[in-house]
Amino acid sequence: MPLSIVAYAREFCRLEWVKKFLAAKTAPLVAPPYFRNFPVLSGKTCTHHLHCMMVCPAPGAIEVVRTPTGWEPRIHEGHCIRCGLCVEACPNGVLSSGRILESVALARTGLSFSFRIDVDLARCMGCGNCAVSCPVNKLVDAQMAHGGHASTEDLLLKVSDGKCRVLHAEKCTGCKTCEDNCPNGAISVARLLSAVHVQGEGQ
Ligand code: SF4
Ligand code: SF4
Ligand code: SF4
Repeated sequence: MPLSIVAYAREFCRLEWVKKFLAAKTAPLVAPPYFRNFPVLSGKTCTHHLHCMMVCPAPGAIEVVRTPTGWEPRIHEGHCIRCGLCVEACPNGVLSSGRILESVALARTGLSFSFRIDVDLARCMGCGNCAVSCPVNKLVDAQMAHGGHASTEDLLLKVSDGKCRVLHAEKCTGCKTCEDNCPNGAISVARLLSAVHVQGEGQ
């Protein structure tokens, strides 16, 4: 037989539960010593490299927005885990936090980005959308023909023999425009991040 409403109410209002609920105590929220401060703007000019966004391990913690005066990184504190990687990654020092910069100077390390482009040749139909849309390709050959064909070998991506070929991966800026424009999901760009020894006395 189902329990009556009164029985339910009694079950959920048991005195020992209420006591535990009212007397519950948790440790006050104190930032552990290894936490660094939230990054703040240093006043230097953001040139929209997006390294901060690319290095951030916390989804939604940072975005670079356009303002009336230029670009500006915004930290969403609810998501930021205060790792400081964005501060270390920015080539222009747009973000800062005293302890983070201090640690970079002491450790004399910096972050370096490169990009790996993979083309799934089984999926690629050689349409050239990727090559035509790539902004780096546009700089090399502004008149690039529809279909991704061109005479120069200085291109980042080029279509030859009916397939997309990566000629100069080192020129890639990781914008992923090619990925967005491939109708077959045949091209993918992965970010490679490595720590490098910084010459001199740090930043
Ligand atoms: S401090 Fe770390 S988690 Fe916070 S925005 Fe920067 S990279 Fe992302
Ligand atoms: S990620 Fe951007 S720069 Fe790199 S190949 Fe694709 S479109 Fe070109
Ligand atoms: S990788 Fe995609 S966009 Fe590029 S040529 Fe192949 S099918 Fe077309």
